[in-house]
Amino acid sequence: MNMKGDTIVLYPAMGSGHLVSMVELGKLILTHHPSLSITILILSPPNNNQQHTPSTTTTTATAFSHDATSQYITDVSSAMPSITFHNIPLPPIPATVPPHLHTLELSHLGNQHVHRALRSFSKTTNLRAVILDFFNFKTIQFTLDIPTFFYYTSGVSTLAVLLNFPTLHKNTTKPIKDLHMHLQIPGLPPMPTDDFPDNSKDPENPIYHVTLELAKTMRNSFGIIANTFDAIEEKAIKAITEGLCVPDGNTPPLFCIGPLISTTYGGDEKGCLSWLDSQPSQSVVLLCFGSMGRFSRTQLSEIAHGLERSEQRFLWVVRTESGRGDSEEEEPSLDELLPEGFLERTKEKGMVVRDWAPQGAILSHNSVGGFVTHCGWNSVLEAVCEGVPMVAWPLYAEQKLNRVIMVQEMKVALAVNESKDGLVSSTELGDRVRELMDSDRGKEIRQRIFKMKMSAVEARSEGGSSPNALNRLAHLWNTNVMI
Ligand code: UDP
Repeated sequence: MNMKGDTIVLYPAMGSGHLVSMVELGKLILTHHPSLSITILILSPPNNNQQHTPSTTTTTATAFSHDATSQYITDVSSAMPSITFHNIPLPPIPATVPPHLHTLELSHLGNQHVHRALRSFSKTTNLRAVILDFFNFKTIQFTLDIPTFFYYTSGVSTLAVLLNFPTLHKNTTKPIKDLHMHLQIPGLPPMPTDDFPDNSKDPENPIYHVTLELAKTMRNSFGIIANTFDAIEEKAIKAITEGLCVPDGNTPPLFCIGPLISTTYGGDEKGCLSWLDSQPSQSVVLLCFGSMGRFSRTQLSEIAHGLERSEQRFLWVVRTESGRGDSEEEEPSLDELLPEGFLERTKEKGMVVRDWAPQGAILSHNSVGGFVTHCGWNSVLEAVCEGVPMVAWPLYAEQKLNRVIMVQEMKVALAVNESKDGLVSSTELGDRVRELMDSDRGKEIRQRIFKMKMSAVEARSEGGSSPNALNRLAHLWNTNVMI
């Protein structure tokens, strides 16, 4: 008799947004299918000050450079013994590769370790499926003959763009960067080509071709798991499911298991929650820009003046370009960074926090009534799940496309417009923040996102779309009836 248990292996990409989302997926699978075991492979970038644990040993929280992430993994490890973490060590990352490219450019470096780990796991357990973050798509060559699915950590509107990308590439005579037009992609409003991620606009850029390969690999996979739900992306979900985004090829099954957010990730509260306790209900605007959003001194100064102009209460998480950790120089103090007298002038209505704050916990606080966000998908979902209306200020990756969806399709955000040099002026920011908090349009957006909050609860409840999608997946894993 075969006494081996059934295991699903999850392989998140680097970056806390990807890692936490995938761990939450593992927790969700276990909640609905507790007989399974989950093994999570963690890519751990080299840290000069510490030894790596070998790939076959359980990962300890010390493998993470970020405090909030370490704490989160430690907590999940102790609360859920059916989840095991395994470390996949990466060789040193060349300094020339910018941080936001690490995920796509370097993830394949862990492939040999993943291959070895999977072979070793298969001796002691039934490997039912491997779920790869889409950035780790090259690992598919090493997942043996185990059914392999992709987890798409952004919304399916950008998944529609990605799946359509090989078609666009085939049909366009000019590089996307030179098109300067709006594209009609099934399920989406007209998408401005100028808002495509920079790397995938230019065929001269190696990432353009990696993106093409990624899209083709995903088109031919067993299935794509997406962190979204009908109430926020109904048209895009329908278009993908009906195969409209891939007119010249195969569309794999789509499993919308969202909205999936972490309620425990965030780290030290740094006094934010007690400060919020002293503020009126729904009066505070949170400004927080993901795990990688950083600003120049000039931009920080525009934000500060914009906040004063808006006359709203605010909680602002400040991260600077000089604080990247790759410079020997000590970071200037907030007083030095921000306009003279700003902290003193705003001390009654504002709180400024350095580098990181527990965004999820802050958004769920009753005093928060607005959110200026960089449009990272986890942040968008967190705002939806808490019913907090947004000002959309995209910074990198697919975020400009997310802005189009948030503003035109979901209608839960106001867009900030950057000037030609990429700067957002104090006037623009101040006016948008005030409009969000104190106008009829702001009110409409607030009501709309509140309805989406209710739909999110429904999607996750028993019999809702999220557990249904998981059941369909588990049926495939259990029966091994693969498409
Ligand atoms: N986050 C946080 N505090 C911060 C910045 C980010 O807790 O100061 C969390 C945020 O709540 C979200 C994640 O980090 O869960 C960021 O993911 P997202 O997809 O929004 O953006 P990314 O960092 O991947 O660009």
